[in-house]
Amino acid sequence: MNETFDFVVVGSGGGSMCAALVMRAAGRSVLILEKTALVGGTTAISGGVMWIPNNRFMAAEGIADSREQAIAYLDAVVGDHEDTPGASRERRLAYVEQAPKMIDFLVAQGVQLRRIPSWPDYCEAPGESVPGRTVVSELFDINQLGDWKSQLRPGFLPLPAYLEEAMQLPDMKRSWASKKVLARVIGRTLSSRLRGRHLTTAGQALQGQMLHRALQSGAEIRTGAGVKQLLVENGRVIGVVIEKDGKDLQIGARCGVLVNAGGFARNQRMLDQYIPGTSAAWTKTAPGDTGEMIEEAQRQGAAIAQMDTRVGNPMAIPPGEPDAEPVVVHGDLAKPHGIVVDQSGQRYMREANSYVEICKAMLARNREVPAIPSWLVVDSRFLATYPLAGDMRGKKKPQAWFDQQFLRRGETLEALAAACDLDPARLGATVERFNGFARNGRDGDFHRGDHAYDQWLGDALHSPSPTLGTIEDGPFYAIQVYPGDVSTYGGLVTDEHARVLRADGSVIEGLYATGTSTASVMGRGCPGAGASIGPSFTWGYAAALHASNPDGAA
Ligand SMILES: Cc1cc2nc3c(=O)[nH]c(=O)nc-3n(C[C@H](O)[C@H](O)[C@H](O)COP(=O)(O)OP(=O)(O)OC[C@H]3O[C@@H](n4cnc5c(N)ncnc54)[C@H](O)[C@@H]3O)c2cc1C
Repeated sequence: MNETFDFVVVGSGGGSMCAALVMRAAGRSVLILEKTALVGGTTAISGGVMWIPNNRFMAAEGIADSREQAIAYLDAVVGDHEDTPGASRERRLAYVEQAPKMIDFLVAQGVQLRRIPSWPDYCEAPGESVPGRTVVSELFDINQLGDWKSQLRPGFLPLPAYLEEAMQLPDMKRSWASKKVLARVIGRTLSSRLRGRHLTTAGQALQGQMLHRALQSGAEIRTGAGVKQLLVENGRVIGVVIEKDGKDLQIGARCGVLVNAGGFARNQRMLDQYIPGTSAAWTKTAPGDTGEMIEEAQRQGAAIAQMDTRVGNPMAIPPGEPDAEPVVVHGDLAKPHGIVVDQSGQRYMREANSYVEICKAMLARNREVPAIPSWLVVDSRFLATYPLAGDMRGKKKPQAWFDQQFLRRGETLEALAAACDLDPARLGATVERFNGFARNGRDGDFHRGDHAYDQWLGDALHSPSPTLGTIEDGPFYAIQVYPGDVSTYGGLVTDEHARVLRADGSVIEGLYATGTSTASVMGRGCPGAGASIGPSFTWGYAAALHASNPDGAA
């Protein structure tokens, strides 16, 4: 070995620095190896929301939740299936037990967290929480990172706004409450800058805080250090091989190796093999999401499962310079005065459903009728009122959107159908039927708007339904929507201590895994916001507890 640590973490994902803090608290040495030049992974560019049932912030606000309620909900939403070993009942129970303890541990370590006041669980099922079970980072001043500041992966939100504030900003032309939010965010930006602070939010704040605490605790972190191989002796993983500056280095790990290296959303070969019909061009994951550690662990005998699952998220791809990048349009789909249709002009989904279910519906529909891409069809009130593909300029959209046929327009629905190559009669009938539902305030086909989540995602200022509005004021517009993703969700099979398992159920000693490198504890379900990062942190915590004290881990 060129060097040896107690614990080596592959990838600087969600669980990595949480595991490092547990290890450091137990007096163990830790090394985190990150392949790219930047720390934080997709977690840093995300919303940073963690789904943590029965958490301390709910209790502090008097919001009812319990272990039993959370288990009932996961039983209903995730369930027991032979092909989802990552979501076994033992793992679900362990998640419900460990996730709130992980949060308590982080708070005790000085990590500042809070809950989002309202983010309903996604499914109507026993045990659901309408206020929601989300935990997020407080805003974080990344100037505290000193020289490390430039090595933290940037987030998706450039303003120091809490997520619930950011979601209100598009309404600022219509609502005094939103104007007040804007004033507050501008005031916060200016006052923090005057005080020499650089406040960040969401996933960047979460990973910024974690990086700060991990460095303070004495964890070692190296970037540009991709792991290419696991070292195995007598069936036990004893270290890793990294390539650094063109040379191979062997690094020993006395207590174990934790794989937190993300999924395979940027590996087209693996997508073709496991989730055919999807494309690496539709992903918002960080550049390192290329799946090689899943394959390396497989070579060492690890079982994989749930490889066909993903955290789908509907995307549009507006023209961009130098490259066109996908833009999340999930919130757009739920707003009034718009519907999604397949390539025949037929509506086929509950547009205000969770991002995961929307993409599942798109992929399933495409097996019957061409539906990739589908079309988001809106009227002129939609365009004037809501952001479309990240643009909030009302009807005055960038000229390139029209020139490059990203945004199609028609004075009438027939003209729009012609511009999109849709059957005009079918589109006309679809819109007429939907308009009837919108006028009655009940979607008789797909129940859009019946669940608390749909209403939360729609437009609180629109009545009587926050999500149903007729499509009748021309001109009409449409954009193409793809079943993109913000992660894959399948990978290494692990137990309730995050130990990697072989196909026969035996443990690969010394090898742990968390995050999207693993077969998710959420199986094929998605209970609520934060169902990826919550588990990544929690299994990182559980892995480090076990590795630092294999006989006494909870
Ligand atoms: C815009 C957006 C918003 C989102 N919002 C949320 C949200 O609020 N809540 C939620 O739960 N999910 C959210 N997601 C999804 C979520 O961000 C990801 O599923 C999650 O962050 C994945 O975390 P991870 O711990 O598995 O690994 P990641 O955070 O992806 O980190 C893995 C790291 O490992 C590195 N790596 C890969 N291979 C190697 C190697 N061989 N050697 C060394 N390093 C390697 C990668 O470069 C990367 O830095 C969002 C995603 C996006 C894009």
